[in-house]
Amino acid sequence: MYLTKYFLPILKENPSEAQIISHRLMLRSGMIKQSSAGIYSWLPLGLKVLKKIEQIVVEEQIAAGHIPILMPTIQPSELWKESGRLDDYGKEMLRVEDRHGRLMLYGPTNEELVTDIFRTHISSYKDLPKTLFHIQWKFRDEVRPRFGVMRGREFFMKDGYSFDMDKDSAIHAYNRHMITYLRTYERLGLKALPMKADTGPIGGDYSHEFLVLAETGESQVFYDKSVTDLSLGNRHIDYSDQQDVADIVKKFTQPYARTDETHDENLFNKIPIERRLSARGIEVGQIFYFGTKYSNSMGADIVMPNGDRTPVEMGSHGIGVSRLVGALIEANHDELGIIWPASVTPFDAVIINLKQGDEQVERACSQLYEDLILSGFDILYDDRHERVGVKFATMDLIGIPWQIIVGPRDLAEGFLELKFRADGIRRRIPLGEGSDHLVKALRA
Ligand code: ATP
Ligand code: MG
Repeated sequence: MYLTKYFLPILKENPSEAQIISHRLMLRSGMIKQSSAGIYSWLPLGLKVLKKIEQIVVEEQIAAGHIPILMPTIQPSELWKESGRLDDYGKEMLRVEDRHGRLMLYGPTNEELVTDIFRTHISSYKDLPKTLFHIQWKFRDEVRPRFGVMRGREFFMKDGYSFDMDKDSAIHAYNRHMITYLRTYERLGLKALPMKADTGPIGGDYSHEFLVLAETGESQVFYDKSVTDLSLGNRHIDYSDQQDVADIVKKFTQPYARTDETHDENLFNKIPIERRLSARGIEVGQIFYFGTKYSNSMGADIVMPNGDRTPVEMGSHGIGVSRLVGALIEANHDELGIIWPASVTPFDAVIINLKQGDEQVERACSQLYEDLILSGFDILYDDRHERVGVKFATMDLIGIPWQIIVGPRDLAEGFLELKFRADGIRRRIPLGEGSDHLVKALRA
């Protein structure tokens, strides 16, 4: 993409309404524009990141055998009457009346809708287990929308719903989700710690939230340092191996890790003092096994092997896709701007032309651009007639991992410079045939 043909509305001034760094950087780098409190338009750069996160989330769900669907944003209130949540949900629910006077709502979550789909089409244990998920906009009329996309009113969420014939199988679905989430966050280059969460009136041990440590997080968290050393890495997961999946989950959930909501000072104090840590965290996901809460009230029964009818066992599992964009920036920035991890960066590399108007430099840049696109890279080419300082500042701000710097002096000697945004280190690279040295460096 040639920058002069793109739409990258960079703000020169720091927006005064933004209290935290990720919000500030998203506005400054032209990723989003607020349309009303907690509601945003996603501009090209922001949309690219959002879509990359979505793609990783989808891939990891599919790897575990979970099935994508797409449910609507607007839901009929009748289903929520059945579950009993129409009144319970309170003011966070945005209610609207259609032209026939029928009460509708903008979905804050989808348990009712998916349970209705299930009961319409599935009635036997033979069709189980099934996990249906979608990634769709949600609306919650938060009292205090703030921090940009981190606590929006409209936000993009992956929510998956598991249906199983018994508790044992439902716990396996819970465990599968735990691992898919850990893997998703790892692929995003984020450390997200699973923490025991409140299960409310349902009780039991089966809810975990995933928290990214960051000073601007809204939750206070307490954890055993050993939990931060765990990772899945490249380990192959056989999601059908119930025991193996349970063992992995056990490893990740054994060390003490809780938010202020479930914190237990006595248990915490049993951890050796040098491993006892407390910090702020951002909730980027939650998984929850709740049994028959919705299937019971909504009559989603299945026929069991012995012929009895029983409410299906369910769980729901969410990832805050749009919140993750903010969380990623909180975890990856410096005083100059964003530093995107390779897995979600909006472009792989940017070409910075140091002397726009110089025929030779322009020709070299266009050639590089063609070569890199042909090699499969997504490239932004800063072809603006701007001062070099402005170009560098813009590219440091938007945080593309590699900057390919092309100027007349290096070019005369057959070289260009390659800068890595994360550490600022520059290397001289020979131009070579078909930009082969550069391609190799970018692939390394
Ligand atoms: P919170 O405690 O932060 O209000 P929640 O526990 O109510 O979130 P869930 O119902 O667990 O949220 O939703 C799943 C995920 O969706 C959360 O883990 C979070 O990442 C994301 N999320 C929830 N509310 C918002 C919001 N207002 N803006 C952006 N993302 C959100
Ligand atoms: Mg939650």
